[in-house]
Amino acid sequence: MFLWQRVFFQTMINFSTFSRHCSFFRGHDIHFHDKKIALLEAGPRKEYDRMPDNFSNRVSSISPGSATLLSRFGAWDHVCSLRLKPFRRMQVWDACSEAMIVFEKDDLDDMGYIVENDVIMSALTKQLDAVADRVEVFYGSRAVGYTWPLPSHSCDTSPWVQIELADGHRLQTKLLIGADGHNSVVRKEAEIKNIEHQYDQSAVVATLHLSEATDNNVAWQRFLPTGPIALLPLSDTVSSLVWSTSHEHALELLTMDEESFVDSINSAFWSNANHSDFIDTAGAMFRSAISLLKPSGSAVRQLPPSIARVDPESRAMFPLGMGHATEYVQHRVALIGDAAHRVHPLAGQGVNLGFGDISCLAHHLSAAAFNGSDLGSLKHLLKFETERQRHNVSLITAIDMLKRLYSTKLAPLVLLRTWGLQATNALPPVKEQIMAFASK
Ligand SMILES: Cc1cc2nc3c(=O)[nH]c(=O)nc-3n(C[C@H](O)[C@H](O)[C@H](O)COP(=O)(O)OP(=O)(O)OC[C@H]3O[C@@H](n4cnc5c(N)ncnc54)[C@H](O)[C@@H]3O)c2cc1C
Repeated sequence: MFLWQRVFFQTMINFSTFSRHCSFFRGHDIHFHDKKIALLEAGPRKEYDRMPDNFSNRVSSISPGSATLLSRFGAWDHVCSLRLKPFRRMQVWDACSEAMIVFEKDDLDDMGYIVENDVIMSALTKQLDAVADRVEVFYGSRAVGYTWPLPSHSCDTSPWVQIELADGHRLQTKLLIGADGHNSVVRKEAEIKNIEHQYDQSAVVATLHLSEATDNNVAWQRFLPTGPIALLPLSDTVSSLVWSTSHEHALELLTMDEESFVDSINSAFWSNANHSDFIDTAGAMFRSAISLLKPSGSAVRQLPPSIARVDPESRAMFPLGMGHATEYVQHRVALIGDAAHRVHPLAGQGVNLGFGDISCLAHHLSAAAFNGSDLGSLKHLLKFETERQRHNVSLITAIDMLKRLYSTKLAPLVLLRTWGLQATNALPPVKEQIMAFASK
């Protein structure tokens, strides 16, 4: 305990997928050469030299922007040497109509990468070892209490944030970065309001084996009235399932026998039971009208692969919710990742939003360090907040609206979204803008 009281932590970061990455503040940015960073992670150290043969059921779709950030830190090479699957095309379609949208790259660039969360954690752990002289990582260390300094220095209060650990140790820092997930204790203890609600859905995840080997470089998502089902490629023969559905149905999917589970997935991707003649006709007329106006706009529909079996023990479910902190920063505190914002997984953006936060925060802290400013000062933290809220709020709102728009079978809304999706699919410049935004 004595040791910790004497250690001066200029920057203390709660450890997570995101905060591991933050260590490039010092690892690769010359402006942080005189700063100390400590990372706390409540969980154990996770590192693999070689991934187990079975794929993990927790995966993320990583955008090119996030991959670039991981490269800058030196972790992307480790990701590549462990395991990842690039995808070149994304097909999203409606179960209540023929409407679909296809995103694909004209060139040989990847649209994104499906990476197991364990791979990202392992790659970051490896890279943190490489900067161990500059970043101290404490595994199995849970922060349990915080004492905040007053903005104006008074003689009888500490100018730093005091952190109490579960084992009784205490740390102090000029800047605390809360990356402690959607139930963030940092956010709660800092009394930052969080606008949140629980969705009426849980996500069922599982590792699936395809009926036959394919290039498997397409990410598939179909909007069912009960929620979106996504199939994300992991190898030529294996894909990952993320199926958002009602809590009751999710529980049913979790407990049914393997054969019924596989049948339910195939039927969710293939069945047209939710189609109606009226919507199909109206959609077909609109599509022909668009193709007359803009013959080159639409993309060819592909058929998703069929599923043969599921990895035993790979099924799991997670309740879904959305949340947004009204403030990302306070004096000597910044929130990043799910601590600041939580989104529905339908757009595969949660972790990418967090990586974007890191990139932005690092940029502003680097400028502050270059100017010799106090890293915990609100002056530059507010620049981070403004920039990120501007980006995040629009995406969070769009994701929430999409979730609501696709959770209905009401004919007028189905027609509206059918036409909307068809029109967007026929407009390459709009699609390019969506892709550019999502690839950040
Ligand atoms: C089913 C599902 C599928 C998803 N798919 C995608 C996808 O394809 N693409 C995508 O971008 N996003 C996806 N997401 C979202 C993504 O998983 C989250 O956005 C991301 O995990 C958030 O990371 P985080 O580090 O902020 O929080 P978390 O992953 O929750 O990590 C928080 C960390 O803080 C640590 N911690 C917590 N409290 C303390 C404490 N008191 N002291 C010390 N350490 C502490 C925890 O141990 C943990 O390591 C998905 C989410 C779900 C549920």
